[in-house]
Amino acid sequence: MKRIAVLTSGGDAPGMNAAVRAVVRTGIYHGLEVIGIQRGYSGLLHEELMPMTLGSVADVIQRGGTVLYTARCEPFKSPEGQRQGYEVLRKHGIDGLVVIGGDGSFRGAQKLAELGMPTIGIPGTIDNDIPCCDATIGFDTAVNTAIEAIDKIRDTATSHERTYVVEVMGRNAGDIALHVALAGGAESVLIPEAPFSLDEVIRRLERGVARGKKHSIILVAEGAGSGIEIGKHLATHTGFEVRVTVLGHIQRGGAPSARDRVLASQLGAYAVDLLRQGASGKMAATQNGALAAVDFETVFTTARKPDMRLYELVNMLSI
Ligand code: ADP
Repeated sequence: MKRIAVLTSGGDAPGMNAAVRAVVRTGIYHGLEVIGIQRGYSGLLHEELMPMTLGSVADVIQRGGTVLYTARCEPFKSPEGQRQGYEVLRKHGIDGLVVIGGDGSFRGAQKLAELGMPTIGIPGTIDNDIPCCDATIGFDTAVNTAIEAIDKIRDTATSHERTYVVEVMGRNAGDIALHVALAGGAESVLIPEAPFSLDEVIRRLERGVARGKKHSIILVAEGAGSGIEIGKHLATHTGFEVRVTVLGHIQRGGAPSARDRVLASQLGAYAVDLLRQGASGKMAATQNGALAAVDFETVFTTARKPDMRLYELVNMLSI
């Protein structure tokens, strides 16, 4: 193995840069040439390749987003697109590829592995919606960003004695909502993985008011419903003053947390090790804190849920 490449794909996540840095520096440390592919699979098809040096990844570990840029690429979903991507990699003498991204990006990576290009994936997405790993890169930062916002909203909620509905990201996964609800002391949390009743949310709100509670925060994962609609429903059925905040993309940006930088650095280095060992078609991850290589096939066929004990705990702590 002489030359490897790295790309970031799908939604950006804080910590992707730390992972790119670790891939580049570990690769060079082991005497490999490292190529950066810009704009994910789109850049691969357009041959947006550039040699990476130790200096190319200087001063990036603390930056959010991805210095390699990211993109979505429809043509790469077709067998012709995948074959073309494979040919580009071969043409440039690349012996192995590291793909940093989410589930969709891994599906593309699996196709390249099937075509014969050794490919390793690193889970990078704020949603934490990848099975078989402790956490995805970016999740911890996104939770911390949302918590900062919740703490500020709580100040206003307390001062004005209002009910706040806060919608956080998570189209298929309630992990962000759940962790933010627990860490932010929310009264209720609505996530896509658990059936919920707005009547029950109302009962909890009314119970709180009856015992003198002046304000409440209800966390909604975007996949569980629209915060705005839920806010309207609660206002209509309780007569309380309800305000809605949709946090949106602020959760995607910002400097990565120390935890995400550490995870990204570990996984970047591990991905290079796996390629050097001849592995392919696997995700580099941590499981119970230890490094683990998980077949993409296992990742695709394993159902995942957030830790539902946390869900019970939110409800228990906000009686
Ligand atoms: P994420 O990686 O964050 O889940 P996407 O689902 O948007 O993000 O996927 C990123 C890119 O990965 C897509 O634009 C496409 O190029 C590629 N991709 C997604 N799904 C597949 C698939 N089933 N087969 C091949 N490539 C895919």
